[in-house]
Amino acid sequence: MRSLNGKINRIAIANRGEVAVRIIRACDEMGIETVLLHSEVDIGTRAYRLATKKICVGPASSSESYLNIQANIDGAIAGGAQAIHPGFGFLSENADFAEACEKHGLIFIGPSPQAMRSLGDKVSCKAIARKLGFPLVPGYEGENQDLEFLLDAAEKIGFPVIVKAAAGGGGRGMKILTNRAEAKELIESAKREALSAFGLATVFLEKYLDQAKHIEFQIFGDATGRVIHLYDRECSVQRRHQKIIEEAICPSLSVDLRRQMAETATALASHVGYKGAGTVEFLLQQGNFYLLEVNTRLQVEHTVTEEVIGVDLVKAQILTAMGEPAFDERQPMIPRGHAIECRIYAENPYLGGIPSTGKLGKVFWPEGPGRRFEFGFEEGDEVTMFYDSMIAKVIVWDESRIRAIQKMKQVLKESIIFGVHTNIPFLLEILSHHEFIQGTMTTRFIDRYFNEPLKPPQFSELDQLMAAQVKKLVSPQIESLSAGIEFISPWSSFWRGV
Ligand code: ADP
Repeated sequence: MRSLNGKINRIAIANRGEVAVRIIRACDEMGIETVLLHSEVDIGTRAYRLATKKICVGPASSSESYLNIQANIDGAIAGGAQAIHPGFGFLSENADFAEACEKHGLIFIGPSPQAMRSLGDKVSCKAIARKLGFPLVPGYEGENQDLEFLLDAAEKIGFPVIVKAAAGGGGRGMKILTNRAEAKELIESAKREALSAFGLATVFLEKYLDQAKHIEFQIFGDATGRVIHLYDRECSVQRRHQKIIEEAICPSLSVDLRRQMAETATALASHVGYKGAGTVEFLLQQGNFYLLEVNTRLQVEHTVTEEVIGVDLVKAQILTAMGEPAFDERQPMIPRGHAIECRIYAENPYLGGIPSTGKLGKVFWPEGPGRRFEFGFEEGDEVTMFYDSMIAKVIVWDESRIRAIQKMKQVLKESIIFGVHTNIPFLLEILSHHEFIQGTMTTRFIDRYFNEPLKPPQFSELDQLMAAQVKKLVSPQIESLSAGIEFISPWSSFWRGV
């Protein structure tokens, strides 16, 4: 099979779940074959079924499979791929991996290792931004890691202060320091966490902005060296510093602020000769924006940008890797309508969001205009405890934000997932909250309004009888779950019309 320009006709995918499926779909449409580099437990999942070829790169544990650089390189070569798409998470921001790909004659679908090191490394990114005169959150990101020195630095910045792992990501290893007495133990534990999660104990400090919105810009560097932006996303709905709901475009940016932030984002990326998809993240507080970090990869929430701008970012990444134009030049990059993404996690919202694992029974996504479902797991697939618990993303588009919210609520109510608990009831509560509806939420929105586990719905005796019947009909294997927990499972809401 030949590709568009004959350069890439087979791409290896060093990832799993919904993003692997997303990449396979783009490749299929471009006439490119795929090689799924998967772990032992992911045999038979949706991405496995859809990929042209599959190569097992190791056991369930990510460190031995999805994070194993050599195993992924060997797998891609054995599978006859010319390029590797890393998706997001795992090795996607690992410059050593990008370099190893180059060394073995494989095209890494992403920016150069140099660009990844300059911007992907939080400390180096801050140094570049400072040199260019861009606004940063006040903080300390120097080499001195002595505890007393860091405590003095925190005091100088002024509490509250956030301590972060220099090599961190995914919201992990961050702690908020509110006074010197508590800060000591928290900095030490942040260092321990940083070492065990990222292999580097180095931490840095930032003033904690406690009324901020998280706003980010999608940037894209094409094969000619030009960097453009594809507008912004609002990602303030976060739990434990991790996004749950994302929107495009941000409902609360003035024209002037949007222009200034977009200029900052593109200038920063241009400075390092950025190629491919990337995201420049900011915090916005009281009309002032501060650069937070750059993610040198495709984001989970790239979908909402695709919906409002009318582009395909994964195809654009692949075309750029081939040296082709990324987008149709005749198409203006102008946002239209509003898009919202909800991340669907396999977790129990009634028990504080603890992960929920098991074999999926019937899964139903209610399709319709402006409704998009990205999922890596279907009926019969196993949701295990080895990986992130995000099993799907639901994306809606409509002409206005309020219509998009209404559509999302409707879609979530109609969605059915048997076999595991999901955060759908929690998402529905958020979507109905007055602050979310007004669009004024900050990153502390969930902490502030949802810090208690959701109250399980109350069922009448008749409801319970009906649920038991439905359950038996649709998913007999659910019997294995304990009765109490099983009964309050969100899937039972589909026939009640919550
Ligand atoms: P990661 O790379 O782990 O995702 P980020 O630096 O992007 O970490 O931060 C993730 C989230 O943590 C932000 O969206 C924000 O909610 C919170 N956060 C990070 N730094 C600050 C800060 N200085 N003040 C307030 N909140 C912050």
